[in-house]
Amino acid sequence: MPAALFVSDLHLCPTRPTVVRLFTDFLAGPAAAADAVYILGDLFEYWAGDDDLSDSFNASIAAALKNLAGRGTRLFLIRGNRDFLLGPDFARASGANLLEEPHLADICGTPTLLLHGDTLCSDDIDYQRFRHEVRSQGWRDDFLAQPLIERRAQIEALRRRSEAEKQLKSAAIMDVNDAAVAELLRAHGYPRLIHGHTHRLARHELSVDGHRCERWVLGDWYAGGSFLACDGQGCRTLVWPPAA
Ligand code: MN
Repeated sequence: MPAALFVSDLHLCPTRPTVVRLFTDFLAGPAAAADAVYILGDLFEYWAGDDDLSDSFNASIAAALKNLAGRGTRLFLIRGNRDFLLGPDFARASGANLLEEPHLADICGTPTLLLHGDTLCSDDIDYQRFRHEVRSQGWRDDFLAQPLIERRAQIEALRRRSEAEKQLKSAAIMDVNDAAVAELLRAHGYPRLIHGHTHRLARHELSVDGHRCERWVLGDWYAGGSFLACDGQGCRTLVWPPAA
């Protein structure tokens, strides 16, 4: 199967062993048979910095990815809002090529724009302000200068706050903004679009300035897994594990 596979929003963590097992099965199965695997963000529930590779769980995930890359599947990764601190040490340990988003890839002849997707949720003003702050070099340097144990504690606190805030936000605010999608497609020559983040698995067809574009949204790996497989014929969503 010469194809590119896309996943996102796995939110891997030691307290969700079933999903971790699903993912390692995926790496040994369809991923190993593919030409390329793209992880479009939120591989981890959170990432406190590359020194978190000292954690045995994190190291085991990096090793599983490295094993895939060693078997000839090209591996690419875009950082998500949960794991935006993934850096060069993780890239070395996992064999993944870190891509800056949005990344325009040629997938079997079709220009395809890849991103995590949180930047498209432009109606969520509070979140975008937060994102802008934590993605600055200054915030990053200050944060990473703190001991790992403190960083983990701060992230745990942030996650609790963000979960509480999400309860108060409308579903519409947390979805992508149509104008932001159109602007992105226009800026990149009306490619096919693949992203995650919203966990709203779907294929959308839209028309931008008279150009028909596809927008594929990847699903999360909470109840089970799924991935998008693209080749010269197009893309299709597959559930993982496959239905019996
Ligand atoms: Mn996300």
